[in-house]
Amino acid sequence: MSAVIAENIIRDRRLAPMQVPPTVVEALDAAERAALTARIQRLLVERDATLVAHYYTSPELQELAEATGGYVSDSLDMARFGTECKSSTLVVAGVRFMGETAKILNPEKRVLMPDLHAECSLDLGCPADEFTAFCDQHPDRTVVVYANTSAAVKARSDWVVTSGIALELVRHLAERGEKLIWAPDRHLGAYVQRETGVDMLLWSAACVVHEAFKADGLRKLRAEHPDAQVLVHPESPLDVIAQADLVGSTTALVKAARDLPARKFIVATDNGLFHKMKQVAPDKILLEAPIAGKGATCVSCAHCPWMAMNGLRNLARVLETGDNEIMIDEAVRERAALPIRRLLEFARQRKRVVLGNNDA
Ligand code: SF4
Repeated sequence: MSAVIAENIIRDRRLAPMQVPPTVVEALDAAERAALTARIQRLLVERDATLVAHYYTSPELQELAEATGGYVSDSLDMARFGTECKSSTLVVAGVRFMGETAKILNPEKRVLMPDLHAECSLDLGCPADEFTAFCDQHPDRTVVVYANTSAAVKARSDWVVTSGIALELVRHLAERGEKLIWAPDRHLGAYVQRETGVDMLLWSAACVVHEAFKADGLRKLRAEHPDAQVLVHPESPLDVIAQADLVGSTTALVKAARDLPARKFIVATDNGLFHKMKQVAPDKILLEAPIAGKGATCVSCAHCPWMAMNGLRNLARVLETGDNEIMIDEAVRERAALPIRRLLEFARQRKRVVLGNNDA
């Protein structure tokens, strides 16, 4: 990270390790899995509900979503799918900001989540009251926030941005003479700032999964596998991004595994994405990028602890009870919808597909 970027980072929002829950993957035997799957399939029909799952959730949830007419994708594309599906209820298997984004774009639908405690370190690292106060101190700056933020933070922003269109949008705003506040991811912000040279104040939150990828370990692994191409999500540190053959969103990484000619890839993102990558590129070899202290003290071991809170048991329970509904104050929801729609209009004018090619 350059000195200029470091000066522009306004505060350190690292979560203390004790605030990050352990990654606990649901353990089910075959009989229990089969019984829960059958129960969920029945309840989805009875409750007029559709399951929408993020790429980082378990293979069981992803397969169930696709087998029942639901959808598996990234956060904004999940919300976009909700606007097209006819069901009156969406069940969002992911983290809280994804449920909120689905509700922002689908206010007439009931949105349920298996576990409302499924958070995101980027969202947690950008509390709306502190962020609002900071923005108020810089009224001359345009506020650009990443999709991984609460409805309240989106409501304080001018633009919601996705990694697939971030460089283009930031250059466009700079051409209009605008200086920016960028939140919440310091690594993605530093990457965009380095690529564009735009005047940006960076909020300093990070993804606990992507921040753990290590440049030294990656260099060693590349040396052991010189035939592998390196795919990196831009929430990773700059010295990891610097070694990438391709930097991209979850959707872009899946497409790269399918379309690039290489037979072997080293992948720096949540290992939940490997399920979709193996589906679309079954003949490719996928290696996990190294993380700090693997097998010993890693915070997340390359799998998001909050994504792992989604399972078949709590999914069946919320379908049964109707608990865990996402509720957003209507004034906040309407305000939060504006910067999302602004992004979609920008993408439309540029003839860019932003939904289905974005973040998180
Ligand atoms: S993987 Fe990182 S960015 Fe994604 S939900 Fe988990 S903490 Fe947030």
